[in-house]
Amino acid sequence: MPSSTTRKEPVRLKFWGVRGSIPTPGPETVHYGGNTACLEFRGDGELIILDAGSGMRPLGLSLAREFKGKPMSVTLLITHTHWDHIQGFPFFVPAYMPQNSIRILGYEGAKHGLEETLSGQMESPYFPIGMNQMPGNIVIQELRDLQFNIGKIKITAAYMNHPGICVGYRLTTSAGSIVYIPDNENFVRFKAHPGANQADTQSKAAIEYARKQEQKQIEFIQGADILVIDSQYDTQEYESHVGWGHSCVDDSVTMGIKGRVKKLFLFHHDPTHSDEKVSQMLEHARQLVKAQGADLCVDAARESLEIVL
Ligand SMILES: [Zn+2]
Ligand SMILES: [Zn+2]
Repeated sequence: MPSSTTRKEPVRLKFWGVRGSIPTPGPETVHYGGNTACLEFRGDGELIILDAGSGMRPLGLSLAREFKGKPMSVTLLITHTHWDHIQGFPFFVPAYMPQNSIRILGYEGAKHGLEETLSGQMESPYFPIGMNQMPGNIVIQELRDLQFNIGKIKITAAYMNHPGICVGYRLTTSAGSIVYIPDNENFVRFKAHPGANQADTQSKAAIEYARKQEQKQIEFIQGADILVIDSQYDTQEYESHVGWGHSCVDDSVTMGIKGRVKKLFLFHHDPTHSDEKVSQMLEHARQLVKAQGADLCVDAARESLEIVL
């Protein structure tokens, strides 16, 4: 597969969509942004997009302006096929340009295969153009292995605690590592919760299992330069969303500290959270780090923020 860029460029990551569940435009979300999950990675000769939420639409427009009709090779990594992670793809302008090649990688959809799920949202009752009518040379590859390479970049995937099939990705690049875990419910808080509504919750064995799973996740994020992680709720909100597949900010921060991560971004902001609420959660996260005497740097993901590694 030809590289999209040949000259040496800085390794960087840009947020195009940071919201969970549904796009939330409006005056209350101007600062952090209302688009759903989509990140752009550039570096080591690759152009990789993480998830295809509604943020993929403005990203596509930006890429079209940048490439000015020259061919572009894009690899799209899908964590899972919930709407907020695929709904931007039908509006991704480069997929309508015949000079481009777009490779989509992911694990199977919850009930159907990856290809069926992705093209399903473009079937005639939902959308005017079928996926097979997009001229952008789209190839969909359903992954089996949890380790593979995109050019020089090593990718590792790990299954997360989220309804259906959902992974997180770790990208090992020439300038450091990035871990992206947009949707994940903290294993231990879930299994230990009386409202979890599962036969095996709260048992000693269930909690022991949850601790082991959490430990695996801590190993997965270990030493990452950047961790982008699901922090949808505060602890009080979590109480009414047990089993919904998302974490509270306290657990995400604890994970980041245990994983000796350098910089953590709160991600998958709840659609009901205003800019003010997200800022309060960020302040709370920073207090938690301080109280533990850790040196983890925490920020909240916001649209158009770009990080150079
Ligand atoms: Zn999501
Ligand atoms: Zn999800």
